[in-house]
Amino acid sequence: MRTINFYSGPSLLPNEVREQLALGVIDYEGKGFSIAEISHRSQTFLSILEELTHLVKTLLQIEQTHEVVFVQGGGRQLFAQIPMNFLNTTETAGFIDTGYWAHKAMQYASYYGNTICLATSKNEGYNHIPTVDKEKTKGLKYVGITSNNTVFGTQYKTLPKVFCPLVVDMSSDIFSITRNWNEIDLAFACAQKNVGVAGMSVVIIKKEFLATQQKNLVPVFSFQNLIEKKSNDYTPPVLSIYSALLTMRWLKNLGGITAIEQYNAQKAQLLYTAIEESTLFLSLIEKKEDRSVMNVCFYGANNKIEQDFLQFCEHHHIMGIKGHQEALGFRASLYNAQTLDNVLALTHAMNTFEEKY
Ligand code: PMP
Repeated sequence: MRTINFYSGPSLLPNEVREQLALGVIDYEGKGFSIAEISHRSQTFLSILEELTHLVKTLLQIEQTHEVVFVQGGGRQLFAQIPMNFLNTTETAGFIDTGYWAHKAMQYASYYGNTICLATSKNEGYNHIPTVDKEKTKGLKYVGITSNNTVFGTQYKTLPKVFCPLVVDMSSDIFSITRNWNEIDLAFACAQKNVGVAGMSVVIIKKEFLATQQKNLVPVFSFQNLIEKKSNDYTPPVLSIYSALLTMRWLKNLGGITAIEQYNAQKAQLLYTAIEESTLFLSLIEKKEDRSVMNVCFYGANNKIEQDFLQFCEHHHIMGIKGHQEALGFRASLYNAQTLDNVLALTHAMNTFEEKY
């Protein structure tokens, strides 16, 4: 029996991706070898990388404007690698602090250059997306934001307007929502939510912005170098890359980002409505437009209710809904691979629990 999985990352894979990945590890397309057993310089693997890069560009409709590269490591690594590539000690990057990850990204950037916090919702428990005076972004090397706050459950539905390049951590909502890529100079996402198996990140860089990269970087950290080498300089994380290809094929077959966006909205609507109609559970994100479609964070009316509901979920094979240690409460992650059936199972559990309570 499959459990009902709401983990925030690593998280659920689409069923067919999970199955094809398993097959590929045992015997890749019936060729008599595992995808994990062949050289990253072999034609088979080169074709995987090429198709993956092409699919990412076409799904996002950025064929002409942006470069796409896959790098070893996760989100935190990019918090360092981006300023390493684009910030020096005479320059300043601005950050909008929407919570845990945005804050960490700013801290990491301060190792390479100057940083400034343009706005924060910290004093209100990160319960909304703070607004920023566009004038304050003049002269900055870039502004860094987190499009979806995985920990507190807020999300930019439209990106903020700035007078400088915009760098977006899309770790927890890439490929789930239509974005205006003209406004995005660099975006990155660790794989383990909407892309595939943990171990790498996808980085998307506008060509004009790439031209402003620092000189004399160690090649393994230089985006320019990794793009020239077509994401195949050091040995790439082959399983993570193969899983990403399977996910992108799956997404394309579903109808791409506009199709998954509608499905995601349906799942989130169902869960937020259940929270609103409940007397035991509540959401702290008051502005509906700020509520995340990917990570629904909610709380029990008191500690006892939270403990009892966690036990109730465990009993009903619902896993991974405990909130992040900074936010506490509950968090149900509704990434692209999450199913409406699973969300229905959760709302049903909430209703049953409430009736019994
Ligand atoms: N950014 C965001 C928005 C995240 O949700 C996460 C991880 N959950 C990270 C960065 C960090 O990713 P990693 O654990 O791969 O360093």
